[in-house]
Amino acid sequence: MAVFKDLTTLHCGGLIERLVYPANESELLEIVQPADTDSFLAMGNGSNLLASEQIFDGVVVKYVDAHIEVSNFSTHERNELEDVSPLREVNSLSKLSNNEHSEFELVRNRFCHMQNSQRLIPAPAFLDAGAGANWDDLVQSAVSLGSSGYAALSGIPGTVGGVIAQNAGAFGSEISDLVISVRAFNRIEGKVRTFTADQLSLGYRTSGFKKNSDWIIISAKFFLLGPASPSTVGFSPTKTVKTKKGSARPLVVLPENELSASAIDEIKYQSLAEHLGVAIGDYVSSSQVREAVLELRKIKGVLYDPHDPTTFSAGSFFKNPQVAGRKISAAQLIAQSGIKLGFTLDGKVQISDRNLLVIVNPHSSPAESVLELARYVMQQVSATTGIQLEPEVQLINF
Ligand SMILES: Cc1cc2nc3c(=O)[nH]c(=O)nc-3n(C[C@H](O)[C@H](O)[C@H](O)COP(=O)(O)OP(=O)(O)OC[C@H]3O[C@@H](n4cnc5c(N)ncnc54)[C@H](O)[C@@H]3O)c2cc1C
Repeated sequence: MAVFKDLTTLHCGGLIERLVYPANESELLEIVQPADTDSFLAMGNGSNLLASEQIFDGVVVKYVDAHIEVSNFSTHERNELEDVSPLREVNSLSKLSNNEHSEFELVRNRFCHMQNSQRLIPAPAFLDAGAGANWDDLVQSAVSLGSSGYAALSGIPGTVGGVIAQNAGAFGSEISDLVISVRAFNRIEGKVRTFTADQLSLGYRTSGFKKNSDWIIISAKFFLLGPASPSTVGFSPTKTVKTKKGSARPLVVLPENELSASAIDEIKYQSLAEHLGVAIGDYVSSSQVREAVLELRKIKGVLYDPHDPTTFSAGSFFKNPQVAGRKISAAQLIAQSGIKLGFTLDGKVQISDRNLLVIVNPHSSPAESVLELARYVMQQVSATTGIQLEPEVQLINF
């Protein structure tokens, strides 16, 4: 029988009654019968899970389709994309949640939304990935294809399905900045649906998929992006488009087969800026940003390596709490409570010696020992600051 211990980056957790690995959508629909069990979990790389040592009395689905493909919108779709006024977008967005739309309509709405709200603008080419693809493989593909917007999210050890469910984020960027649409299967209704990012309730480390675990993400489409202010960053778009309202709007139109190799990223995070020797708001080549992020992750002890037990963790164990509408640093609260780097209760499970937010399980101790340390940290923080920390890690079967 499979065990969570072998399937999670915290290297703990008990037996799983039934683990299935559907390779594609039709296998998934065949294997996962509507409501065939109460206990059900869709999982990716197990990099954000703490599963108890008790037997998981149900079905765990690890969807393994890991394709990552570049697609261009068809010429017709491209013309349509370039021809939508912001006004039309607002009207159709408000209707989305109630009506059934074609997938293309959903994509077009998201595309326009991006153009209006971000400093990056989408190219009329996109990435399509299976939920089982490694997120970092997708980042690497996007950066080498010349897309901005991905490099800061390098080195997160999840799958495409996991990072969407979690709305993972790092160094000032989040998955919600990049998703166009998600295809998912509801095991109770036995139905497959396509959602745009706007319909996914993506928030700080959460999404509709975390609130309703009956959905299994099958695949997702992601923008390829270019900078919106090319003149300020030395990037020239190949085409300028007139919208219906008549205003000129630059679109990055990438060649059919070969995308630009000159991606750049705006630096939004202090420690990344310092590491690169630039200021916040500066632009740096995406490949340099990716390299710097991977180096920083190694320094901070959050670059997962299955051969190095000092990296056995789930990344940040706690969320940064919101207090009076303001997000505050959980690491600072932990420091304030007197807990130091390397702190341990049992001499085995410990706070990382490089990062107060990370609980490390180098001896593959039982899940209950990991939870004991997490609870201790929460109690200490609550006692000294009056603030209740919440785990970012998902607790399973406790
Ligand atoms: C060393 C290290 C560093 C990390 N750094 C970061 C970071 O910088 N930023 C960050 O946000 N996170 C970070 N994490 C946490 C983790 O990698 C992310 O939360 C990631 O998104 C989890 O993806 P996963 O595939 O491992 O999902 P899992 O841990 O397997 O599952 C997490 C959640 O996603 C759901 N899920 C997974 N796949 C599917 C699917 N196909 N359909 C529906 N739901 C699904 C699960 O049900 C569960 O709710 C880090 C973890 C480690 C170990």
